Amino acid sequence: MSQKGELAPRPSALGPRPFDFDLVIAGGGLIGGSLACALSGTGLRVALVEAVAAEAPEQPSYDERVIALSWGSRRILGAMGLWGAVAADAAPIHQVHISDRGHFGFSRLDRAELGVEALGYVVPARTLGVAIRASQAGHSGVDVLCPARLVGQQVRADGVDLEVGLEGGTRTLSTRLLVAADGGESPIRKGLGIRARERPYNHDAIITTVTADRPRPGVAFERFTETGPLALLPMTQGRYSVVWTCREDETAEILALSDADFLARLQGRFGHRLGWLIRPAHRRAYPLKLLLTRETVQPRLVLIGNAAHTLHPVAGQGFNLGLRDVAALAEVLADSAAQGGDPGSDPVLSAYRNWRGRDQREVALLTDGLARLFVNPWLPVRLARGAGLVGLDLVGPARRALARRLMGVGGRMPRLARGLPLKSAYGSPQGR
Ligand SMILES: Cc1cc2nc3c(=O)[nH]c(=O)nc-3n(C[C@H](O)[C@H](O)[C@H](O)COP(=O)(O)OP(=O)(O)OC[C@H]3O[C@@H](n4cnc5c(N)ncnc54)[C@H](O)[C@@H]3O)c2cc1C
Repeated sequence: MSQKGELAPRPSALGPRPFDFDLVIAGGGLIGGSLACALSGTGLRVALVEAVAAEAPEQPSYDERVIALSWGSRRILGAMGLWGAVAADAAPIHQVHISDRGHFGFSRLDRAELGVEALGYVVPARTLGVAIRASQAGHSGVDVLCPARLVGQQVRADGVDLEVGLEGGTRTLSTRLLVAADGGESPIRKGLGIRARERPYNHDAIITTVTADRPRPGVAFERFTETGPLALLPMTQGRYSVVWTCREDETAEILALSDADFLARLQGRFGHRLGWLIRPAHRRAYPLKLLLTRETVQPRLVLIGNAAHTLHPVAGQGFNLGLRDVAALAEVLADSAAQGGDPGSDPVLSAYRNWRGRDQREVALLTDGLARLFVNPWLPVRLARGAGLVGLDLVGPARRALARRLMGVGGRMPRLARGLPLKSAYGSPQGR
């Protein structure tokens, strides 16, 4: 690995050519960083350009967020060799309890019904960041440029010329393929005028952690309230990650509450299923929106993660969906590299788009539907959703179908999601 623009010349598995890199990933957050890890050892020459150092307090991806990883994501991280560095901080979810505050319906999803060790795991985003960074440092094949900002791109027929701002100046790079993993506000998407369907929810998610005096290890709670969903996710040591969705006109007031008043308000919404909630950590708010890019693939360009789809956190699906993008993209790129192919060619990018489009649309619509359905105060809708939750509890197949979708299993699964290595350009499967 080289840092800060010290690019070490290395032969590409695809033979000599006038390009600095086979692909450049712009954005080294949760998704771009994961893709760089997945591709190390494939023989592709990869550069990762990230604007903010992983350990910096203002790092926007590896922040105070706590991520509910699906079972499918746990398998992908395992196949990428990252799970070992994450496991000690990961709390399993054995059961999800879903309820509607003040109404009659509730439902449960349980690992026993699905025959898995856990429905998912709860992991701090910072822990994922540390694991991703350590993996990049330990593998060859990826040049990490950080802090470095992509400030311009010129797409040509056979590649992309990039302008990267580094400490003390700018430098130009050329690549066969540009991967935009630069987040929901993606400067690349905006700069190239790529159209996206975008709808603000007019809600914010306030996150913090609390300790419960009667913790129920392994049980995650999703409670739908009048202003939006409230999730309490089990962490290690009796802590719970709180994701409290509120109207944006309430946010400033909730952030300004004293700890005691905040806990009283939270307890009023959540009830006493976990006894008293104490010791709240720092609170932080995130504005929420739905963003779904119409075309995630353009000539010589792929958008992945939040740059392609930014979701409501109601079902904890954003990173999980993005990690499935990573696993699928890494697979088509590794297969192409093993045959000496051009990673930015139309057939490679079309294969990726055709594979991922359906999952991306369906998960975006599912989370959007849940977010809207459960804040609707209209009586018939309230009755219907109560009946829906009861029905879901009674009807095993519907509950199992929902659980499998949220667990990120089903459909055509990438090799990494099946626990298998990628192909390497040197003829044998990538060793890990
Ligand atoms: C409150 C909340 C709770 C969530 N909970 C869950 C959950 O439980 N489960 C789940 O699966 N998902 C969850 N998510 C979603 C998850 O956090 C996102 O899907 C994930 O962070 C997306 O990662 P990303 O790398 O695509 O984008 P980002 O995290 O936005 O990272 C983008 C990166 O690109 C860098 N960058 C931007 N522009 C440039 C540039 N020009 N040059 C160089 N670098 C650049 C940024 O510095 C940043 O590091 C949650 C989201 C929120 C808001």
